[in-house]
Amino acid sequence: MADDRIQKRIAVLGATGSIGTQTLSVADSLGTPTDVLTAGSRDREFEAICRKYSPRIAAMADESAARRLKTALADTDIKVYGGSEGVAAAAGEADADCAVVAISGMAASEPMMNAARCCRRICMANKEAIVAAGGHLLAAIKAGGAELIPVDSEHSAIFQSLTAGRRGDVLKLILTASGGPFYGKKRCELEKLTAADALAHPTWSMGPKITVDSATLMNKGFEVIEAMHLFSVPPEKIEVVVHRESIIHSMVEFRDHAIIAQLGLPDMRTAIQYAITYPTREDGCAGSVDWGTLSRLTFGKPDTESFPLLALAYEAARRGGTCPAVMSAADEVAVGAFLRGEIGFTDIFDIVESAVDRVGRPGEADLCEIVAADGEARVRAGEMCRGR
Ligand code: NDP
Ligand code: MG
Repeated sequence: MADDRIQKRIAVLGATGSIGTQTLSVADSLGTPTDVLTAGSRDREFEAICRKYSPRIAAMADESAARRLKTALADTDIKVYGGSEGVAAAAGEADADCAVVAISGMAASEPMMNAARCCRRICMANKEAIVAAGGHLLAAIKAGGAELIPVDSEHSAIFQSLTAGRRGDVLKLILTASGGPFYGKKRCELEKLTAADALAHPTWSMGPKITVDSATLMNKGFEVIEAMHLFSVPPEKIEVVVHRESIIHSMVEFRDHAIIAQLGLPDMRTAIQYAITYPTREDGCAGSVDWGTLSRLTFGKPDTESFPLLALAYEAARRGGTCPAVMSAADEVAVGAFLRGEIGFTDIFDIVESAVDRVGRPGEADLCEIVAADGEARVRAGEMCRGR
């Protein structure tokens, strides 16, 4: 086992983010060296990370941030690449067993496809690109020769639960949802809620965009589409159950009605580590569940009337084409505006629904059409935000 650990090297794409920094803490605990690290624009944070982890290549999407980084790291042997083509090139030059894809948004697409050609495994945290263009990206990863292991906690739980039976015997996937900070509220009560209210997630600690997506249930809608692509299961075989305690991370029901679940404390490092070490398990970073203080586990149906974006995601999954991409792009714009205090919480619902209706095109769509629809949805959503 010790030899195995020494041989493993990882690339962390999106190393400065919430998942990226947690991946680096898992790498510390496993004693795994890093080969390639990438970031977007925060060069100070990235410089500190590069100094600590000494990657062979460091890349930043923002050109001027990359220039500053290059000057700052002039006393090291680290090669610095700049621009989104630099991030994609760095991913494609990785000499690593695993690439953890923790870049947010569609920007992850090209780096992940490049990494699939040189890394044995893609540990996939990114969800926006999978929602928008899952079929195309998963095919490209497969063609690149890499295996794909999910990092999102629900999909990691399903991946682990699926080992208990045959794929053909799966009756349904059951995704658990914490319900977010506004669980139980009716639509009229949601109108006045602020970004600070939405950022107070009851169980998980995550970046601001995904935390707001958890409050609207858009995140759970994205996860339905992610599960559909990752496990080749139609949306009608994916059920969402509200489970406030976030101890059961998701479940699989087989044809004999046996249900297999994966449980643990809500800590992303467990899922990140499993994706890196699969099929072996190493000592974990998160603590154990304390069964003495955990008095009950509760379950309920999601309220799709007050939180319509979950139902919209099922609809977008059924329509296909550019609808999921439009939904994800419009959501990103609307959540950004909400976080800046420019629109209200329920405006996010209206803007995303309206963008899917006006811009989304059902049926089949190639990658170029998806990228174009993403751009158009951003423009339309921006106009709608300014019109509020
Ligand atoms: P963060 O916003 O915290 O981090 C995003 C990372 O991507 C940062 O390193 C950022 O760099 C980098 N980045 C941003 N834009 C670009 C770009 N255009 N090109 C290259 N790099 C870029 O996000 P999270 O860590 O929260 O999430 C990452 C992904 O994982 C998302 O898709 C999210 O949905 C998914 N996910 C997150 C979970 C969580 O618990 N946080 C759970 C499950 C999935 P910089 O810091 O320099 O801007
Ligand atoms: Mg999740």
